[in-house]
Amino acid sequence: MPRHCAECHGSTPNFQVNFCQHCGKTFGTRIHRPTSRKSRPSVVSLPSERIPSGTVHRHHPSVTSKSLRTGLPSSSPSHSSSSYSLKSRPISIERKRRETSHDDSHKRSNSCQYKIICGEYLSSLKWQEVFFNRKHNRCYCNECYPMSCNDTFETGGSTYVIPRNWCRFGLHVDQVRAQTDHIWDQWIITYHGTSAIAAESIVNHRQFLIPGDRCIDGTSIYIHPDHIKDKYEIYTSPTIAYSSLSCYCPAQQFRSKLTNKLYNAQIVLQCRQKPGAFKVQAETVGAGNKRICSVISNDQVEILTTIRAAIVPYGVVIKLTEINRNDY
Ligand SMILES: [Zn+2]
Ligand SMILES: [Zn+2]
Repeated sequence: MPRHCAECHGSTPNFQVNFCQHCGKTFGTRIHRPTSRKSRPSVVSLPSERIPSGTVHRHHPSVTSKSLRTGLPSSSPSHSSSSYSLKSRPISIERKRRETSHDDSHKRSNSCQYKIICGEYLSSLKWQEVFFNRKHNRCYCNECYPMSCNDTFETGGSTYVIPRNWCRFGLHVDQVRAQTDHIWDQWIITYHGTSAIAAESIVNHRQFLIPGDRCIDGTSIYIHPDHIKDKYEIYTSPTIAYSSLSCYCPAQQFRSKLTNKLYNAQIVLQCRQKPGAFKVQAETVGAGNKRICSVISNDQVEILTTIRAAIVPYGVVIKLTEINRNDY
């Protein structure tokens, strides 16, 4: 449910962003917290001299605004916006300490700066809030998911590559499907790169549509003129490096009100797919000898299926790349 700001009465969708999008007021601790307080370590402010110089936001050139608020409860002493960038460091350090387990289960994490901006972008798309399930939220920025963590995992007997530098916002998944098909235990993890509009359509329809299908508003899914007859497939990949190529996943410009910076925003749907219900093949973008992903070889990088029911999106994964002044 959205949070309503006591200050400006604005409504902020619940993407685990703990401040008002409109006026910046920090929300209290009242809702959407892990039920166990033990899981939430107290924030210890380390003296700034202990922070190695030059490492502040090294992994986040895109998120350096001093005016950015943290996602902390209002009781936190770290809200002085003027000293934000230094004081925010201990939060990340705490998080690293806490995330000793390297598995990719659906853990909660506090909002890092990157996740907050990604959440702002997602809010700007105005998707319906009922789509989202915070249980599957997970940020894979270098602070939330350190370099020492695994780059790959096995699910459903298949390797998938962790989406480093992307941030996932969980989607609700049909409980009946999840249980009867054992999608969390047995299905593989894949990525589907697309535009924000197409991604919303997929989530809104609760399924992937195939060229030739008609949307709920009666419009037909476009069939490309070069389309091979009788080939109506959904394309995914075990690596986001492939799914996020611009031919699949066009970037959209986004200006953050929090940082006042301009970003290229990309959206990929993270999915579960049923083993045995897809085909694996080589890349189809003409990459030649140029390796697309350091883990998955070019000849294994594309997955296709014609079975709508065998692919279930469970997360919207977002990447923001700051556009430098020189670029525009
Ligand atoms: Zn407000
Ligand atoms: Zn993060």
